[in-house]
Amino acid sequence: MHRHKTHEVKVGNILIGGNQPIIVQSMTNTDTADIESTVKQVIELSDAGSEIVRLTVNNKEAAKAIPYIKEELIKKEVHTPLVGCFHYNGHKLLTDEPACAEALDKLRINPGNVGFGEKRDTQFERFIEIAIEHDTPVRIGVNWGSLDQDLSAKLMDDNSKLSQPLPSQEVMIEALIQSALQSATNAEKIGLSKNQIIVSCKTSNVNHLVKVYSELAKRSNYALHLGLTEAGMGVKGITSSAAALAILLNQGIGDTIRVSLTPEPGASRTAEVKVCQEILQSLDIRSFKPQVTSCPGCGRTTSQFFLKLAKEIDDYIKDQMPNWKENYPGVENLKIAVMGCIVNGPGESKHADIGISLPGTGESPAAPVFIDGEKTHTLRGENIPQEFQKIVSDYIKTRFSS
Ligand code: SF4
Repeated sequence: MHRHKTHEVKVGNILIGGNQPIIVQSMTNTDTADIESTVKQVIELSDAGSEIVRLTVNNKEAAKAIPYIKEELIKKEVHTPLVGCFHYNGHKLLTDEPACAEALDKLRINPGNVGFGEKRDTQFERFIEIAIEHDTPVRIGVNWGSLDQDLSAKLMDDNSKLSQPLPSQEVMIEALIQSALQSATNAEKIGLSKNQIIVSCKTSNVNHLVKVYSELAKRSNYALHLGLTEAGMGVKGITSSAAALAILLNQGIGDTIRVSLTPEPGASRTAEVKVCQEILQSLDIRSFKPQVTSCPGCGRTTSQFFLKLAKEIDDYIKDQMPNWKENYPGVENLKIAVMGCIVNGPGESKHADIGISLPGTGESPAAPVFIDGEKTHTLRGENIPQEFQKIVSDYIKTRFSS
């Protein structure tokens, strides 16, 4: 895959863009002014694998809380870079609360929500000046739902004068792209370097997003933050995000990603981090944990045993990963297969590092295990899950001990 060449941006202890790995990020949904809850959620997101965490900074209380949040995190040895998300009053909050600007590792500004009329340019300028004063990178984050009204009105007007006007959706897409790129150029004119600018241009429609980012990549080399906005809940949110991000990532577009899932009431916020990781891992872009390939099961697996084993292996890996990651570097590249019967079981198992082919309906009650393509064990009886887990664990110790 040819990666779109972008400028590298330093965000706290993380590098985004250039040849750096694609970074996973997330956003809190606590009240930022509630320091305890926000610190707790940043830690949860970081522990789940979020390499950058964004927080809304929407009022004075939130801006005042940011330095304390940072301090608490450092006390707990959590050094995940924090991004402040500002709309409308960012220039004022950051001017009034310099400690907030100092504590943040990146600032997000939405050119559609900077201000109106003449104030828009001066407030944008002030925001960028603060970023320069604190040597902090900025994401210029345009959003379909809050597009710069003046710019879109002008482009609509110009379009209406054409002999063959374009469909309004195409004009809106162009307005999004221009809003992002013009704002980034303006930020550079004010003095922000290319290595301190990240651009995003989010839409909630997959096809629009692909078009917008393909154009951004053609027209610029700014580091790109990729994400479908307002992706939605559950399966819908996950699927549409994966569809959009996979197309772009596969074209080498995108330097950092976020999946904007609406959590189920009471559900953990960390789902969005896991989805990002799964997208990158399924595209072979990055590995985060051993990959378990399991067949979907069918009429050849009449018992629940196969489903139970596949789940137990997955759970076992999740439980063991913190320890494995520390002691067995490279373990995230391990590939395990858990297959339901002889049809594809031995074949898929041989392609994995470790695979097990369970007995399907009518097959003799034996489960051959393959290691590095060779059949090494045949498991029988009630303890197949435990015995298979031990084989996996022994293999990891042998192969990944440093
Ligand atoms: S491997 Fe066997 S059990 Fe699994 S889906 Fe294929 S035929 Fe069905």
